[in-house]
Amino acid sequence: MTISQDQFVLWIKSFADVIAENKEYLTELDSAIGDADHGINMNRGFQAVLAKLPAFANQDIGSIAKNVGMVLISTVGGASGPLYGTFFMQISKETAGKLELTLSDWVTALESAVNGVMLRGKAKPGDKTMLDSLIPGLNAIKECNTRGTSLAEALNASEKAAEQGMLSTIPWVAKKGRASYLGERSAGTQDPGATSSYLLLKVAAQKWGNSA
Ligand code: ADP
Ligand code: MG
Repeated sequence: MTISQDQFVLWIKSFADVIAENKEYLTELDSAIGDADHGINMNRGFQAVLAKLPAFANQDIGSIAKNVGMVLISTVGGASGPLYGTFFMQISKETAGKLELTLSDWVTALESAVNGVMLRGKAKPGDKTMLDSLIPGLNAIKECNTRGTSLAEALNASEKAAEQGMLSTIPWVAKKGRASYLGERSAGTQDPGATSSYLLLKVAAQKWGNSA
């Protein structure tokens, strides 16, 4: 019931593929309430990660996460680059030297990542950002860990909660980022960043859920 170094790499690779597949969709959401580049930004960053991955894929999980974070910060413009970069840099701090992660290790890393995004972007739950899928996803996995569920059950609960969180952003008015410039007109569209963050937790559940 652990996440191996190989599975960690598989998560990153698969997320890069999922972002490429959803590039137009994410950009379409951002065209409604932002500047039509979220899919482009995320795809640029994760294609750069894929290109550099062979150079660091056999390192420990903390080093892999650090490299991913650095590539994202250096290649992605916009709000999402520094925020996703911070997310992975925080994971790297909690997973330094590790070759596998238990459910508790992952909860600790994810909590630190989410807190890092909050500190960096100064957004709160309900502001209609990526945090609105990340925080419910984190809370669900924490609760499962406390109850002592399997890794697979915890990851699935996290995916479902993140999906609900993503959907809950639809009627909301954005309070942070470009979408907030629209005021009331930002209501009615699902937040692009909440959508990409949901996909990140979904891919984790798909790729790590079978190890339980
Ligand atoms: P930009 O807004 O600079 O064009 P992107 O389009 O790539 O960058 O990303 C937009 C997403 O970033 C939003 O949908 C939102 O989820 C997220 N976001 C923006 N500002 C913040 C913030 N301060 N905190 C958390 N997430 C944010
Ligand atoms: Mg944008």
